[in-house]
Amino acid sequence: MRDFSGDIQWLSINTATVRKQWTLDQIIEGCARRGIRAISPWRDQVAAIGLDTTARLLKETGVGLSGYCRGGFFPASTAQGLRDALDDNRRAIDEAKTLNAPCTVLVVGALPGALAGKAEYKDISLARSQVQDGIAATMDYAREVGMPLAIEPLHPMQAADRACVNTMEQALDLCDAIDPARTGMLGVAVDAYHVWWDPKLASQIARAGGKRLLAWHVCDWLTPTRDLLSDRGMMGDGVIELRKIRGWMEDAGYAGFAEVEIFSEQDWWLRPGDEVLDTCMARHRSCV
Ligand code: ZN
Repeated sequence: MRDFSGDIQWLSINTATVRKQWTLDQIIEGCARRGIRAISPWRDQVAAIGLDTTARLLKETGVGLSGYCRGGFFPASTAQGLRDALDDNRRAIDEAKTLNAPCTVLVVGALPGALAGKAEYKDISLARSQVQDGIAATMDYAREVGMPLAIEPLHPMQAADRACVNTMEQALDLCDAIDPARTGMLGVAVDAYHVWWDPKLASQIARAGGKRLLAWHVCDWLTPTRDLLSDRGMMGDGVIELRKIRGWMEDAGYAGFAEVEIFSEQDWWLRPGDEVLDTCMARHRSCV
């Protein structure tokens, strides 16, 4: 297992972590200044400063990507909605290509409309089959341009509105169905916050193997959790055994970044960006 205690070469910052404090150009600059080698930006943050500007800043600073957030949200209640989702995923893949991302992360979606407050249907198995069809269709394009797709299973508390793929097992079943040859073009993004509780986590990480472990997202699960979406903790402040899980990942062949992804309305988003990044670096060495 790699030793992270002495340096930050495998630290990446998911740009949501400081999204309230800084624009993307400030985030890239803040990471470059500290020797943080990678980020994983969100599409809205890229759009806010422009795709070309983002690409230029990455090139100038030498900061790379550990992933691109995000594609997905495949289910829809109309044929047009399904087509629109596929178009949007192609655009996400094109942006990820422009920025040289190693993978595009998929938050697959769930009951259409639920995120806005009113589900247009309630059949979660329909949503799941639309997700499978959507990923399969998107894979054709992803293969063509050479952009791996990483399915991110989300904690079941988000099954209605954000992702109806909720366990590693479910995500890997999709990988087996859509990419049985294990080409490396389809895999999973393992986010500790979403999967730490799963009794099958170790065995499913082993099942995935290096070819399907495309990303590793870290933060911590706070007790109590005050908000289901945006009360993630800094590594070391909660109950997730991050180092143990990373050991399982590395035993299975994962050798990439540990990407810090913290949504924290009541704590970290209220602190200065410099303090957040400095804390991420310290905790990366001591807790990840
Ligand atoms: Zn994540």
